[in-house]
Amino acid sequence: MGKVYLTGAGPGDIDLLTVKALRVIRVADVIIYDRLANPDILAEAKDGCEFIYVGKEDSNHTLPQEEINEIIYQNALKYENIVRLKGGDPLVFGRGGEEAIYLKERGIKFEFIPGITSAIAVPEYAGIPVTHRGISVSFRVVTGHESKNKEQSQIPWENYKTDDTIVFLMGLHRLDKIALKLIEIGKPKDYPIAVISRGTRIDEKTVIGTLENIYEKAKELPTPALIIVGEVVKLHNQLNWFENKGV
Ligand code: SAH
Repeated sequence: MGKVYLTGAGPGDIDLLTVKALRVIRVADVIIYDRLANPDILAEAKDGCEFIYVGKEDSNHTLPQEEINEIIYQNALKYENIVRLKGGDPLVFGRGGEEAIYLKERGIKFEFIPGITSAIAVPEYAGIPVTHRGISVSFRVVTGHESKNKEQSQIPWENYKTDDTIVFLMGLHRLDKIALKLIEIGKPKDYPIAVISRGTRIDEKTVIGTLENIYEKAKELPTPALIIVGEVVKLHNQLNWFENKGV
């Protein structure tokens, strides 16, 4: 019976993979990976390593989580070193906790290997610090995705009134509703918001706007993309370093 490494792949830029992740990838017998994990990482695997893609679209799951759990489990019965590679950090909207519970209940050993989460690194590559002295003392990371069959919003919007910085993952397809909701709870219409598409990758693109106009400006951006709201967004003008590099 093997051990499963629930491993963060980082946000996109392959250099943002941790040393620990790289170590287990190099000895893996099988790598079970997601759509958001940079596939170039697979080139680091040893000869003969098996690759299993269990990619999911943002809201359109190609494989149900239950099936992914079972695939990991079956591979743990077959191999010694199993790497479950996930975009960003495995426990930030990554369902790594569910996978670990499934394995634990079946007597399989596991480890978590943290990854650099897109929630912080993607704004950072866009020159937007999630906190900044004198501007923001807190940040919150939330899902922008809502279950289609629930009528009531699952997102506790009232809690966001006083937040400095809010990062929405999985929210691009609901950008119009998110912006509207923030205005409804009392944020000014000209409050700063940005959408960052394909962050930390060569084709990263940031669009800056206000709650009122961001939807028109950013709705066509390619995924993956995240939304960041707050005064810190204004720092992009000064601190944008990566997209200006001319790579
Ligand atoms: N575990 C991941 C997040 C999974 S949720 C992490 O820690 O980063 C998936 C969402 O993350 C996407 O819908 C998108 O909002 C965001 N995301 C992931 N990679 C991204 C990237 N390179 N650029 C912009 N957003 C990204």
